[in-house]
Amino acid sequence: MSQSRIPKRTFDAVIVGGGGAGLRAALQLSQANLKVALISKVFPTRSHTVSAQGGITAALANVSDDNWHWHMYDTVKGSDYLGDQDAIEFMCRNAPSAVYELEHMGLPFSRLDNGKIYQRSFGGQSQNYGGEQAIRTCAAADRTGHALLHTLYQRNIAARTQFFDEFFALDLIRDEEGSILGVTALEIESGEPWLFEARATLLATGGACRIFRHSTNAHINTGDGLGMVMRAKLPLEDMEFWQFHPTGIPEVGSLISEGVRGEGGYLVNKAGERFMPRYAPNAKDLASRDVVSRAIAQEILAGRGCGPQGDHVYLKMEHLGAKKIKERLPGIRELSLQFAGVDPIDGPIPVTPTAHYMMGGIPTNLHGQVVSPVRYGPEEPTRGLYAVGECACVSVHGANRLGGNSLLDLVVFGRAAGIHMIDFLRENPIPRPLPQAEVEKSLARLARWEKKSGSETVAGLRVEMQQVMQAHCGVYRNETLLREGVDKLDAIEARLPDAALADHSKMFNTARLEALELENMFPVARATLISALARNESRGAHSREDYPERNDDQWLRHTLYFRDNDQLDYKPVRLKPLTVETFQPKQRTY
Ligand SMILES: Cc1cc2nc3c(=O)[nH]c(=O)nc-3n(C[C@H](O)[C@H](O)[C@H](O)COP(=O)(O)OP(=O)(O)OC[C@H]3O[C@@H](n4cnc5c(N)ncnc54)[C@H](O)[C@@H]3O)c2cc1C
Repeated sequence: MSQSRIPKRTFDAVIVGGGGAGLRAALQLSQANLKVALISKVFPTRSHTVSAQGGITAALANVSDDNWHWHMYDTVKGSDYLGDQDAIEFMCRNAPSAVYELEHMGLPFSRLDNGKIYQRSFGGQSQNYGGEQAIRTCAAADRTGHALLHTLYQRNIAARTQFFDEFFALDLIRDEEGSILGVTALEIESGEPWLFEARATLLATGGACRIFRHSTNAHINTGDGLGMVMRAKLPLEDMEFWQFHPTGIPEVGSLISEGVRGEGGYLVNKAGERFMPRYAPNAKDLASRDVVSRAIAQEILAGRGCGPQGDHVYLKMEHLGAKKIKERLPGIRELSLQFAGVDPIDGPIPVTPTAHYMMGGIPTNLHGQVVSPVRYGPEEPTRGLYAVGECACVSVHGANRLGGNSLLDLVVFGRAAGIHMIDFLRENPIPRPLPQAEVEKSLARLARWEKKSGSETVAGLRVEMQQVMQAHCGVYRNETLLREGVDKLDAIEARLPDAALADHSKMFNTARLEALELENMFPVARATLISALARNESRGAHSREDYPERNDDQWLRHTLYFRDNDQLDYKPVRLKPLTVETFQPKQRTY
């Protein structure tokens, strides 16, 4: 393929991803009058951020007495002490100003009678370091992500961010010295490849829960940014940690927000027993998500599940009354009616633990710079590459994320990365020469997916892969299960070169996109299994039946998975915060 036939556009910065993280970073850059391209495979306001329901957490103290240090304590404890305490301090300290900033941008938060921002209870939030429930999560009814995404999108339009909607990013362009100089992308409508050259590139491609069969995530959450990073020979961090949300609708996966339990809803088993007090005597239904998911799994395993298969439990909220449900949880009612066939005003919603959030991802520092620790020297930033949002691991969520902390992570670190990129771009005004061979390599990968015949289908392989991950790497894991999972996954991936595109590829490029997505999902799944196999302890969302205890002597460290040699490496948890004392690891009870 001759080099120059592919159209090239040059920008100061290119942002891949138009969810909350990408939009917040882009806004910072555009407002500084830099030339910014934002590439998104779907129209930005269709990014998964749009479906965030419950809210964004910040210690505003509008309802209960509160401060950022209590929020920090809860986040460190929620992370099962795997979160980096400097990053957690940074996020929790900056939370109130981040929320006020969104308010001033025009985000239509729900209001208290006194006019202040409405806040609700969420799991794992306490006052006074583990005391009474804190009321800390700021909400726009049960459509907070929708409000946040639309607010940020409108601000970006005003700031003249240049949007490339329905462009699919393929690969990072990396020169021999390891600098990132932009990305290749496919224009979905035309099927033409493009080259986006930029002195700084930011990945904000969101989560990857679609590697599991049952997930609350949008179909687009396939871990493309993670695949791009692995192909650029950079590691992924803490890939064994995936959050299973306690309350997804069985089979369909639609999420029933923790906000329901925050407003007073609770779980019951088939005998009608409210079972959470047995597992978490203080926090009950508002214990941390990993704790509630395990409790539900235990009830189901013990034969106390509901329905003909006994494979779910019920979430009751009738007692909240029609008025509160309609006012505070209208979207939940709609979802329940549509996907479970139940009006929660009249009866309970069936729910089961469902893959929801990726705690691991692309390792970054507090400025969003992608770092390659240990193997390439101490925490070396990759020149010109940043990552923010669910695809990144800074790590504020450690082994288990608290509800409401992800939207916060997007805006706090989106802003921080934008600020750092502005300085980087000013200090590095001259573009470096593009390595043409890298561009060709990416185009060759694309060309492989022009074929129309083969003995396998992309869709079939994807489903098999998702089933393996669901069965072998779910809420509970053990060595045998994980080893079998690796073997099965390898056998399925080996069939990928024989996959054909469906016939409709003659009309739409979507079939080719599905193949490219699957190419990203396989290594994400493998990174997950290999990391989960190595961590022989139970911490946060990673529960090993064969190693039920947390082992701080050995495992107060982050896992790093390198795809190029299929090896793991480790780096210690940063226990030292920026200005306050360390919260020493202790046993986690709710
Ligand atoms: C149902 C649901 C409810 C949730 N509720 C809450 C909540 O109440 N509070 C909370 O804090 N968190 C919540 N979360 C988590 C939170 O919403 C997400 O973690 C967060 O929105 C992710 O934002 P993001 O910007 O990182 O990615 P996303 O919003 O997922 O956006 C990813 C972007 O990347 C683009 N992209 C991906 N791959 C490519 C590619 N190859 N080329 C081009 N573009 C690409 C997509 O087009 C998209 O624009 C919820 C999550 C779910 C699934």
